[in-house]
Amino acid sequence: MPSTQDADVIVIGAGFAGVTAARELRRHGHRVLIVEARDRIGGRTWTERRLGRDLELGGTWVHWVQPHSWAELSRYGIDVVASPTPVDGFWITGGELHRGTADELLELLDRGMSASTEEALTWFPRPYEPLLLGDRLRDIDGTSIRQRLEQAGLTPGEFDAVEGMWATNFNGPTDVGGYAQALRWCALAGGSWQLMFEACATYKIVGGTRRLIEAMLADSGAEIRLGAQVTAVAQDGGAATVSLADGATLTAAAVVVTLPLDVLDSITFDPPLSDTKRRAAHQGQTSTGTKIWARLRGEHQPFVALAPGSAPLTLCQVESVEDGTTVVVAFGADSRRLDGTDRAAVERALRGWLPDVEVLEVACHDWVADPFSGETWPMQRVGQLTGALAELQRPEGRVALAGADYASGWAGFIDGAIESGMRAARHVHDLIGAPVRLATVPAPSPALAGS
Ligand SMILES: Cc1cc2nc3c(=O)[nH]c(=O)nc-3n(C[C@H](O)[C@H](O)[C@H](O)COP(=O)(O)OP(=O)(O)OC[C@H]3O[C@@H](n4cnc5c(N)ncnc54)[C@H](O)[C@@H]3O)c2cc1C
Repeated sequence: MPSTQDADVIVIGAGFAGVTAARELRRHGHRVLIVEARDRIGGRTWTERRLGRDLELGGTWVHWVQPHSWAELSRYGIDVVASPTPVDGFWITGGELHRGTADELLELLDRGMSASTEEALTWFPRPYEPLLLGDRLRDIDGTSIRQRLEQAGLTPGEFDAVEGMWATNFNGPTDVGGYAQALRWCALAGGSWQLMFEACATYKIVGGTRRLIEAMLADSGAEIRLGAQVTAVAQDGGAATVSLADGATLTAAAVVVTLPLDVLDSITFDPPLSDTKRRAAHQGQTSTGTKIWARLRGEHQPFVALAPGSAPLTLCQVESVEDGTTVVVAFGADSRRLDGTDRAAVERALRGWLPDVEVLEVACHDWVADPFSGETWPMQRVGQLTGALAELQRPEGRVALAGADYASGWAGFIDGAIESGMRAARHVHDLIGAPVRLATVPAPSPALAGS
């Protein structure tokens, strides 16, 4: 029987996870409808014209050690371009500003970064199977990255530097960031913290993340509705029903939900999601920080600057230098501490590293206050790997979660979003089977028609 439903599959969210799931399901011939609350696609990636250039307000950097992202770049023939290599290094330790070279700063980081990642391949020998070691993982999953650093016998200067680096990576406080999450990242980079560092902040997509996701969406041929906020998902033995904020309802055989963990409970599920999923959503990720772009007066030599997690900004690096100005990107671990749209406030924060700096303009999106994200890039808290990941990945009936928050590998990255979109699509296809369509009756050939 042909379906009378609005679609075979409804995908909620047009970020990388949703668009991947839609494309993969379309490949199997399913009728797919993407419903997206925003008026644009991309979710937590957003290439936007600001400061006179195309800026990435969300996810930016990709790398060939991220296999899912790289495969998409290869598929659509899209190149990458490197961010400038830092020459100068500025760092704040013990409340004092130090100036040197970027290499000296890397040296200062080495003992702490090595100590906090040396067990990566021991615990995650096959990093796309993060739960491979089973219950033994509880030993490390009960530890925060800060506790691990405190046990590492570092000098106060080394501690402040590496704590600032992890506050940047977790985009949140290091006392709640899971040590296991730190090890997972490093294991994905073959156990090398330097390669992990390179993977996180070096290569950008030519044309921006928008170019890649637009290519994927066009390839999918999926139908999409923008400005369509979902409020509820209900399912019974026969179908799933998706309710929108405007009162409309849509039906399908299955639903892929790609909401970030921190806003997962903004949708009512009937029957409710499992207790573990709801508890994890209530707890949320560690990533409550900020990413801020600023144009500075003057042409600065490329630099990287680092400060402890207690500072309003923990890391800053140069992204471009032209026409007598320098564009930098900076990160802070607490979005409430610094309004990234307040030029004067950002200038004050940057003066921690550059006492005379003059900020001409700023650009920022508050992802934490954004009702459709509630967090920046997903980073697990202490206990969430063993306590929640397997359950978050487990579909419930006709509803499957997808998203970087629920990835096995590069959770927190575009790669993780794509990986989880592939998994959810595979699951849904297996669940609902190949689509059945009415055979179309061939039109009579002109010769027959005329006889
Ligand atoms: C500041 C920042 C910097 C980052 N830097 C990097 C980086 O350099 N490299 C990297 O690889 N990754 C980076 N990331 C992470 C990366 O951007 C994300 O992991 C990835 O884009 C998440 O994709 P997703 O599809 O899982 O989720 P999302 O992109 O969040 O997609 C979910 C979609 O669901 C929609 N939605 C939410 N609620 C509803 C609703 N009720 N109804 C309908 N639609 C809804 C949202 O609007 C959104 O479009 C960064 C993220 C941020 C925020």
